[in-house]
Amino acid sequence: MTDIFSEPFDVIVIGGGPSGMMAAGRAAEMGARVLLLEKNESLGKKLRITGGGRCNLTNATADARKMAEKFGDKGKFLLPALARFGVEATLDFFHQHELPTKVEGENRVFPASDRADDVWGALVQYMFSHKVVIQYDVRIDGFAIEDGRVIGVKMNGGVVRAKQYILATGGKSKPETGSTGDGLAWLSALGHTVIEPDTALVPITIQDPWVRNLQGTSLQKVKLSIVHKGEKRKGFEGKMLFTHFGVSGPLVLNMSRLVRERFGKGKTELSLDLFPHTDSAGLDLRLLDIFAKNVNKKLKNGLDDFTLPSLIGALIELSELDSEKPVREITRKERLLLSLVAKDMRMTVSGFLGFQKAIVSSGGVDVKEVDFKTMRSRRYPNLFLVGDILDFNRPSGGYSLQICWTTGRLAGENAAASALVEGGPSGRSSMHQARSERDERSEFRIM
Ligand SMILES: Cc1cc2nc3c(=O)[nH]c(=O)nc-3n(C[C@H](O)[C@H](O)[C@H](O)COP(=O)(O)OP(=O)(O)OC[C@H]3O[C@@H](n4cnc5c(N)ncnc54)[C@H](O)[C@@H]3O)c2cc1C
Repeated sequence: MTDIFSEPFDVIVIGGGPSGMMAAGRAAEMGARVLLLEKNESLGKKLRITGGGRCNLTNATADARKMAEKFGDKGKFLLPALARFGVEATLDFFHQHELPTKVEGENRVFPASDRADDVWGALVQYMFSHKVVIQYDVRIDGFAIEDGRVIGVKMNGGVVRAKQYILATGGKSKPETGSTGDGLAWLSALGHTVIEPDTALVPITIQDPWVRNLQGTSLQKVKLSIVHKGEKRKGFEGKMLFTHFGVSGPLVLNMSRLVRERFGKGKTELSLDLFPHTDSAGLDLRLLDIFAKNVNKKLKNGLDDFTLPSLIGALIELSELDSEKPVREITRKERLLLSLVAKDMRMTVSGFLGFQKAIVSSGGVDVKEVDFKTMRSRRYPNLFLVGDILDFNRPSGGYSLQICWTTGRLAGENAAASALVEGGPSGRSSMHQARSERDERSEFRIM
């Protein structure tokens, strides 16, 4: 195979998403000569649409242990990495790179400008200032391996070589942004254990027409519980959104994995409690009060002070009451029914949206096969694995991107350190020498 570049690089990063950009920037900052390979015509397509274009870049969770707990059983693997580069260090990094941030509800951190593009810009500037070489529109066929080490990346009919390699090709959600799972297929072929990706943090489709009629309605601080084969399970509180296909929003996305585990194994419903902090008796008192003020109105016009106008029709429909009935004729039984339904609006799950609409995919490389102090593969000593290709379950709230910053930073740092200690054909035998050589380079970008 022909060498595409005459001189080898110290580090090659494959994938220009958030984890790859962080890794490339850090490796170059350490003094390594870095090549970033991206199959799209631009970097970070998914990053630029995160958080509805605002980018929830991390979660201001107090310490590494608390943050790791958010990742469930596998959080313990992430802990050594978070202890080295956690939330505070991440925020310091962005602040130093001229990206002020702000904290919103549930500790979600956003750029002060509310622009995901500014997060993207800070990373691009970071790479450019440390002279990362970027090649776009690449067609990669996988790794060239010799004696248990990666010796090159096969692409465009040739090979590019480096001493260390960082794989940052992402998972499978939103494939139109470039995340098509290519890296996972290569790793599987190399003998890494790859758990088959499925959609995670995904909107849920609902069959009941009343749900679709509410499309566009967003609810704050409600409670959703899974009802499986008629048995109600533990509920969760948060924000949700009705859509033309069913339900979405942070609460729904975070519950989607649990719902999926039961879906297909018996009737699976969601129970919506509009008033999680008031019991049925308390709600009945409230209704009594509201009805007393609206005795001459029809039921459909007498509930305005009870809940959102858009929900009133659904409440009456699910209670099987006559919306035209005057409030003064509503019986105690009917009133009690309304308050019970307001705490248990049932919807039947019919499925999930696909990879196109998922925030992240589940599955990926088995985390047992990665050293989380360095992000080095335990199978290939000069290969580092970062970002969404790692098999972690996580809630929404900035946790996915925190994995990218943490793992990208560590991989960049350790790949550069290994390459620079190694020295070799490019003539760099120490970090110091590499730094001064890098400073003399003028090229930082090729197309
Ligand atoms: C709509 C949406 C909103 C989101 N909002 C948030 C949020 O607010 N907060 C949060 O924490 N997370 C959010 N996420 C999740 C977050 O975007 C991901 O966790 C993150 O982008 C993963 O980064 P990554 O670098 O691992 O991979 P990706 O972002 O998937 O980047 C992978 C890169 O590798 C490139 N690539 C793939 N294959 C190849 C190949 N063969 N050759 C060369 N290059 C290749 C791709 O083109 C892409 O540029 C959101 C996701 C979506 C879809």
